Amino acid sequence: MSKKTALISDFDGTVSDSDFFWKVVDKYMDEAALEPWRMYLAGRLTHFEALKRIFSQIRVPEADLRNFIKEIKIDSHFQEAAGICQGQGIPFYICSAGCDYYIKILIGGIIDCYGINLIANHGTYTPQNGLEMSAPAGRFYDAAVGVSKKAVVEFLQGQGYRVIYAGDGLPDVAAAQVADVVFARDMLLEKCRKQKFSCKKLNSFADICQYLLKEEG
Ligand SMILES: [Mg+2]
Repeated sequence: MSKKTALISDFDGTVSDSDFFWKVVDKYMDEAALEPWRMYLAGRLTHFEALKRIFSQIRVPEADLRNFIKEIKIDSHFQEAAGICQGQGIPFYICSAGCDYYIKILIGGIIDCYGINLIANHGTYTPQNGLEMSAPAGRFYDAAVGVSKKAVVEFLQGQGYRVIYAGDGLPDVAAAQVADVVFARDMLLEKCRKQKFSCKKLNSFADICQYLLKEEG
């Protein structure tokens, strides 16, 4: 490959096995707590505001929350992909419409070890106020989801990178539409197929590792 490559991945449901948001609702909340999500689906709240309101309802000792987070499964080939990127000088970005609080608990060590760039909303937790989420200021800010993944793709393309994008959900669609290579699962895979733009099915990060080794090695 003559053009330099960058890899961007969503976190929830892509690096992790499913969304933190759904896990937290299942574990700690009742049906009424999902009202912000219904408002989002009805177009009356942004994705960011819906998540923010739901996260703020968590009321458990922080140690319990951290233990709960540590049980979330991470793709078993994720670290291998990070190693390939580091070895081949491929910038690796994790872009999330969720928040850095649980991402850092889960993969903070890998992020630091392999020099991964994390672009996500910020979260702080107290049992009094729950998980408080704030959007990052700056060039990647987006009012609807906090972080514009599409803006990150375009920023890297502007730097001359061919961008590989991996994701699973609706906040990934706009980014996938402009990326050069797309690995998709679940909702994003359905959208790609419906809108007829090409993508590869993402079963696990093993697919990305294989692709990087074949295309970039
Ligand atoms: Mg996701």
